[in-house]
Amino acid sequence: ADAAVSRIGLAGLAVMGQNLALNIAEKGFPISVYNRSTNKVDDTVERAKDEGELPLTGYYDPKEFVMSIQKPRSVIILVKAGAPVDQTIATLSSYMEPGDCIIDGGNEWYENTERRAEQAAAKGLLYLGMGVSGGEEGARRGPSLMPGGTPEAYSYIEDVVAKVAAQVDDGPCVTYVGPGGSGNFVKMIHNGIEYGDMQLISEAYDVLKTVGGLTNQELQETFEEWNKGELDSFLIEITADIFSVKDDKGEGELVDKILDKTGMKGTGKWTVQQAAELSVAAPTIAASLDSRFLSGLKEERVAAAEIFAQYGLSDVIAAQNIDKKQLVDDVRKALYASKICSYAQGMNLIKAKSLEKGWNLNLGELARIWKGGCIIRASFLDRIKQAYDRNDKLASLLVDPEFAKEMVSRQAAWRRVVGLAIEAGISTPGMSTSLAYFDTYRRGRLPANLVQAQRDYFGAHTYERVDMDGAYHTDWFKIA
Ligand code: NAP
Repeated sequence: ADAAVSRIGLAGLAVMGQNLALNIAEKGFPISVYNRSTNKVDDTVERAKDEGELPLTGYYDPKEFVMSIQKPRSVIILVKAGAPVDQTIATLSSYMEPGDCIIDGGNEWYENTERRAEQAAAKGLLYLGMGVSGGEEGARRGPSLMPGGTPEAYSYIEDVVAKVAAQVDDGPCVTYVGPGGSGNFVKMIHNGIEYGDMQLISEAYDVLKTVGGLTNQELQETFEEWNKGELDSFLIEITADIFSVKDDKGEGELVDKILDKTGMKGTGKWTVQQAAELSVAAPTIAASLDSRFLSGLKEERVAAAEIFAQYGLSDVIAAQNIDKKQLVDDVRKALYASKICSYAQGMNLIKAKSLEKGWNLNLGELARIWKGGCIIRASFLDRIKQAYDRNDKLASLLVDPEFAKEMVSRQAAWRRVVGLAIEAGISTPGMSTSLAYFDTYRRGRLPANLVQAQRDYFGAHTYERVDMDGAYHTDWFKIA
């Protein structure tokens, strides 16, 4: 092919790249595709044919690939984050020309994007770091897209992404997020929030199953019911489904045969590291990450269970007089209230980073583009968007009038669930720490006066007073 035939190019044809390329082609944008290993190019071309003669052309040679794209060129890269992105850029950029644009769609660390954007700019190339969420299905049918970089770079792909992204009642799930690495940062926080949601759901499952004695069928029915109300979301929906899937290799349901050990790829860890860097409390997300670490210690946990059993502490301390119906209702409320805390933390992280970097991110708009396509999609996100529409300077989602009312009407149930779990010896780190977060945030006076007194006592760090301005130091020794 000697003429530039394609509107856009995509390099990296694993799960995400292949499906996104087919999606783009299906929306009527002729696309060129390339992958380091040629078999993935063949697979993609084959699928494009099978799925309706989609306008997609495969290339084995990176130069021919680049030349096949209309100028100014837009090339999406979807390879493993880190060094593979640098290698792919090195391969492709040698054939690209000033004015062309590179879009990295991977889960990249935002500072890598900022470094690459500078290097690209030195060659006259434009650059975007674009978070893509929704997994395989999202990429193929409509993901949530979080592009960050220069507005000029965004203008190169705006028409394409507006069609390719998931569509919800108030538009496509894509927006120009902001400058620099903000698109990657927002995707990272999205994943941190996803960790929180998944952890909270798993705790709800544990309480219902272990304290409430619900069967898998009852769990399936409960989550299906929950999915019709305030918890309506993709993760609740797939959770209901999971409880109904039979084990194809034995008796019963598959969920009971899965080893209780969680994997992870790093975006949750980055989120918690950023929380510490920014001095923003994100305990629900941190608890989710810690739970993944602890889940990984399967052998140690099994050994510990044996040791404590020897001293008479069993795995679970049997709960008395459980009213199943009440428990299900309480757990739903505890889950929802905890979820609000988790999202408040995620949004506060974005706000703090936006301030630090001068990104000027629009929190309501970010909630909007998460309404469809992505893993955390939920009707709840519309409420978050409305909260920021009411007040874009909102200090925390917790104090939005609507959310504040919702928290108050659920807090008694929330306390009952956490109390029951504690009595039964079942850990609910996400729900308990969310409750502690709420109780800390909403109290006008904390015992931090004592910590500050201690700091002044041993380190002369000074303190402020509630009744007078200024910094004070006391010679505590002499007075005592
Ligand atoms: P992946 O498993 O992360 O990466 C595989 C792709 O990277 C293959 O195309 C592979 O090419 C290429 N690659 C690896 N090392 C390379 C190198 N040194 N030079 C050139 N190419 C190299 O693929 P993925 O799961 O589709 O994910 C792509 C990106 O999207 C990642 O950043 C991922 O974190 C992100 N993401 C994934 C999901 C998901 O659900 N999977 C969801 C959202 C975001 P070869 O075929 O030649 O090995």
